[in-house]
Amino acid sequence: MNAETPRAEKGRAPDIFERGGWMTMREFGLDEEVDFAIVGSGAGGATLACKLAESGFSVLVLEAGPFWRPLEDFASDELEQQKLYWTDERIIGGDNPIALGGNNSGRGVGGSTVHFSMVSLRFRPEWFQCRSLLGYGFDWPITYEEIAPFYDEAEAALRISGPVNYPWGPKRKRYPYREHEVSASGLVLARGAERLGVAWAATPLATVSAPAGKSPPCVYRGFCNFGCSTNAKQSALVAWIPRAIRAGAEVRDMAMVGRIETGAHGRVTGLHVQRRGRWHFQRAKNVVVAGYAIETPRLLLNSACPQFPQGLANSSGLVGTHLTTHAGPGVWATFDEEIRWYKGPPNIAVCEHWNYTDEGKDCHGAYAFMSQGPLPRAWAQNVATARYLWGDALRHEMMKYNHMAGLVPVAETEPRLQNRVELADETDQYGLRIPRVIFSYSDNDQRLQRHAVDFMWQMLEAAGGRDLWTSDDTSHILGTCRMGSSPESSVVNADGRSWDIPNLWICDGSLFPTCGGVNPSLTIQALALRIGARIREMAGRGEL
Ligand SMILES: Cc1cc2nc3c(=O)[nH]c(=O)nc-3n(C[C@H](O)[C@H](O)[C@H](O)COP(=O)(O)OP(=O)(O)OC[C@H]3O[C@@H](n4cnc5c(N)ncnc54)[C@H](O)[C@@H]3O)c2cc1C
Ligand code: SF4
Repeated sequence: MNAETPRAEKGRAPDIFERGGWMTMREFGLDEEVDFAIVGSGAGGATLACKLAESGFSVLVLEAGPFWRPLEDFASDELEQQKLYWTDERIIGGDNPIALGGNNSGRGVGGSTVHFSMVSLRFRPEWFQCRSLLGYGFDWPITYEEIAPFYDEAEAALRISGPVNYPWGPKRKRYPYREHEVSASGLVLARGAERLGVAWAATPLATVSAPAGKSPPCVYRGFCNFGCSTNAKQSALVAWIPRAIRAGAEVRDMAMVGRIETGAHGRVTGLHVQRRGRWHFQRAKNVVVAGYAIETPRLLLNSACPQFPQGLANSSGLVGTHLTTHAGPGVWATFDEEIRWYKGPPNIAVCEHWNYTDEGKDCHGAYAFMSQGPLPRAWAQNVATARYLWGDALRHEMMKYNHMAGLVPVAETEPRLQNRVELADETDQYGLRIPRVIFSYSDNDQRLQRHAVDFMWQMLEAAGGRDLWTSDDTSHILGTCRMGSSPESSVVNADGRSWDIPNLWICDGSLFPTCGGVNPSLTIQALALRIGARIREMAGRGEL
C-alpha cells in the first residue's frame, strides 16, 4: 500500500516492528468530541499524545504526512528518502534567508525525529533564566529543577546511549544505555580536543547500543538523516507512537489540519481537516498545536476569525515572532589517513566546552559542536554550494571523500522580534496561505559564529587536518510562539496553555523563549512530558 494513502484506519494502524504487521487502534467519529485533538505527531505531539492517552484522556492525533513502515518504506538511497521532509512551498526572506526542507522539518508520523541525528542533550540550567543570570534573551517561565525529572523520564523512554560520566552540566544519573563506539570521524574531534586541552565526550544519542524491546542495536550504517530502516533509532515513531496507540489514542495519518474553529463563547470547538481530498470537521474539547515552529504559527494565523482577527492566541501580537535557529557554520579538513566518515551516526562525538564557559567570548550566547558524517550526495551538495565547484572540479574534490572530517556547531541565535513567520498571499494545494519565513543574523549572532569557526579551525589543525575551508548552514527552527509569565510578553503560559483561549494549547519547539547551544528535541520531549503531567493535575482539580 502506497505510504501517501491513509494507512491508519478501519480500527488498525501499521505495526512498525513487523513487515506488513498491524496493531489495533481505536477510532473516533467526527461527531465524537475527543478530550484532546493534537495537530502533528513529532517530538512534541507524539510525546504528549502518549502521556495524555496513558493518563486516560481520549486523544486524536492528526498528522499531515504518511504513517511510515521503516522496515519496508525506507530505502538506502538519499534521493528516494527526500520523501521524509516537509517540502511544500514556503517563502524565505531577510538578510540571511534560512534554507528550508531537509535541514529543518519533516512530514509524517514521528515528524522531524524520523530523520533527525539523535543528539540528545540537556539545556544548561542557567539558560532557563537567560536574561536574569546571563544578561541576554528572555527568561523561561520554568526552571531547570522543574524540568529535570522530565529530562530523566524522556531519557529513559528514549533509552539514550551515553557516557557513564558526562563531562558537562549538573550531576546526573547514568544514561540508560552504554555509549556508542566512537567512529574515526569522532576520534578526529577527540584528538583535537585533547591537544587543545578541552573536554570531549561520546554524544548521548537516541539510538540503542544494545537490543531494547523490539529495537535491534544500531548497526552503524549511517543513514540516520534519511530514516533508520532497522528501528534502532528511537524516533517519536518508534518510542512514543506505538505506546500512544496501545493506550487508546487514534493517530490519523495523511490528515492536514487547515483551520481551528472557534465558538461564540471564545473557546475552540474543533478542527477542519483534509483527508483523501475531502474536508471534514472534527470536534474536540481541547486542541493542541504541535506542527513545528513554522506550521504552528501558520495554523494559528490561518485560523483568524471575526472574534480573533489577528489569529488565535495572538492578543500579544507575538505569534510567529522571535524565531530562532541554530547557526551551523562548518569547518572541513582533509586528512592523510582514511576516515570513512559515513560510518555510524553522523554526530558521534561532542564538545560542549563553550556552552559552559563564558570567559574569553566577545559576545553572549553558547554553542556545542560535533563531529560529522555526511553521505555522498549531501556532501557533494555542500561542496558545490559552499565552494561553487562543478563538473571535473567537483569530481576531483569528491575523490577526497573518505579522507575528510569536519566540525559543525549548534550556535545560539538571539530571539528578535523581526525574525518571524508570517502569512504570504500565495496559497498551497489545500488553498491555505503559505508561510513566509524571515531571518537575519544580529551582530552578536555573527560574533558567536566567528568564535565557533576560529575554535573549530584550531581544533581541526591540532588534529592534523590540512586544506581547511568553511561553509554556512543552519538547523532547527524554534521559538515562534514563546511561553512566558504574562499575556503581554508571551503566547502561552508555562503549561503551553494559551493566555487568550483556555482550551487551546501549544506543545512543540515553538515554545522556546531562547534556543540555547544544543539540539532541541530532548527539551521538546521533556516539555511535552511536563505539559502532560500538568494537564493531568489540572483535570484532577477540574481546571481544564
Ligand atoms: C536533518 C535533521 C537533523 C536533526 N538532528 C537533531 C538531533 O540530532 N537532535 C535534536 O535534538 N534535534 C535534531 N533535529 C531537530 C528535531 O528533529 C526537531 O527540532 C524536532 O523534531 C521538532 O519537534 P516539533 O514537535 O516541533 O516538530 P516535528 O517533529 O517536526 O513534528 C511536526 C509534525 O507536525 C506535522 N504537521 C505540521 N502541520 C500540520 C498540519 N497543519 N496538520 C497536520 N499535521 C501537521 C508535520 O507533518 C510533522 O510531522 C534535526 C532536524 C533535522 C531536519
Ligand atoms: S547508524 Fe544506527 S541509527 Fe543510524 S540509520 Fe544506521 S542503524 Fe539506524
